[in-house]
Amino acid sequence: MNTFVSIAIDGPAGAGKSTMARMLADRLGYSYVDTGAIYRTIGLFLSICGISPKDVDGITRLIDEASIQVEYDEQGMQHMLLNGQDVTGELRTPEMSDYASKISALKVVRDVLLDLQRDLAGTRNVVMDGRDIGTVVLPRANVKIFLTASPEVRAKRRLLELQAKGDKKSSFDKVLQEIRERDKRDETRAVAPLKCAPDAVRLDTSELSIEESAAAMEKIVKERLG
Ligand code: C5P
Repeated sequence: MNTFVSIAIDGPAGAGKSTMARMLADRLGYSYVDTGAIYRTIGLFLSICGISPKDVDGITRLIDEASIQVEYDEQGMQHMLLNGQDVTGELRTPEMSDYASKISALKVVRDVLLDLQRDLAGTRNVVMDGRDIGTVVLPRANVKIFLTASPEVRAKRRLLELQAKGDKKSSFDKVLQEIRERDKRDETRAVAPLKCAPDAVRLDTSELSIEESAAAMEKIVKERLG
């Protein structure tokens, strides 16, 4: 039996999962596990290999050559190591968002990453965010929250994030279209689709500020953990 506490935060792209989950982890003194970064790391490996996200045979052949490790620095920040090299700074680009979303629909990819995610939750208290944490990865998580917001609000937030990083090319319409495409892929895939677990608390942050969302999440966690 797992003696560590796990909090599962699922939801669509741009719902504020990583910001909220990180804040929650800081306040509780837990490790924050960003599973999207894990999918992005395997995506980076496959894209460097020049494999099309549709080439299931090629992906199946190559996937075991990727050694993926999750490490934490003194500030508690998660770092992704790909075959021993820190690739954290290369993961959050629109290209990697698209590629990771495509390869994450494949069973072979999800199977390879499942144990890695479960092992992390088996060795520490975690706030883990993703798409299938409450449904597949940690079905017995102590608290499950499904964080969501309207596609328009999520696109606005994502655009601000990209602009803050110096992106001048992306427009609201383009980001909104990408979000809609990713939602559709994540929700309709056959393996581990994005959906709210029956025992998860659904929290819509469309009308909430970061502080209000964080307060609402803390309230849910306190109620559930007692
Ligand atoms: O959360 P983030 O946008 O970084 O995730 C990148 C992609 O990885 C998502 O679009 C989703 O398709 C996939 N993903 C997933 N399951 C997770 C985390 C991410 O399928 N637990």
